[in-house]
Amino acid sequence: MKEKGLLIVLSGPSGVGKGTVRKAIFSQEETKFEYSISMTTRNPREGEIDGVDYFFKTREEFEELIRQGKLLEYAEFVGNYYGTPVDYVRQTLDNGNDVFLEIEVQGARQVREKFPEALFIFLAPPSLSELQNRLVTRGTEADDIIRGRMETARKEIEMMNLYDYIVENDKIENAVEKINSIVQAEHCRKDRIQQRYINMLEVE
Ligand code: 5GP
Repeated sequence: MKEKGLLIVLSGPSGVGKGTVRKAIFSQEETKFEYSISMTTRNPREGEIDGVDYFFKTREEFEELIRQGKLLEYAEFVGNYYGTPVDYVRQTLDNGNDVFLEIEVQGARQVREKFPEALFIFLAPPSLSELQNRLVTRGTEADDIIRGRMETARKEIEMMNLYDYIVENDKIENAVEKINSIVQAEHCRKDRIQQRYINMLEVE
């Protein structure tokens, strides 16, 4: 029996640079995982191609996909729907290939429920560590600015709970390198590969 691929979920707060990091990963020739192209009801931006960047759908079409159970997860984000096609994900994993999702946090929570064995990576904003630095050298920012940033930071830190790994997006190439290393390490996990060796003894 073919080993299943790994489902990799990259998520994190809005504006952290998930899309940029994902594009950098897929611009590398050695990247072996498959990007799951999402469905969305938002309008294409200049240069975006249907079936490459997204599958662009009307609200009616999207709601029909929800009704038919065709989405692994979906969320409404700034007035538009975004969702992951479930058949593509299952088929790719069953074929033994890794699937990479780049989605916002509400969707990641739904994937956690359906695929607890998936790998969840949280992309954290460097502003969190900058904030920490600023707090120790207090007096440089007005109190209300610090308070506002603390509130944002608190929400972002709470979001981290769901994830297996946290990668700070200080520099794109650092984040890409860390994500690749995490995926590689994850493939070496005993739980994932031990069965391969047990099967080997059985065919002898
Ligand atoms: P954008 O409109 O900038 O392409 O994407 C907006 C947000 O939607 C980003 O945070 C992106 O990660 C997220 N997103 C893209 N595809 C999906 C998806 O299939 N499901 C969910 N839940 N979020 C998505």
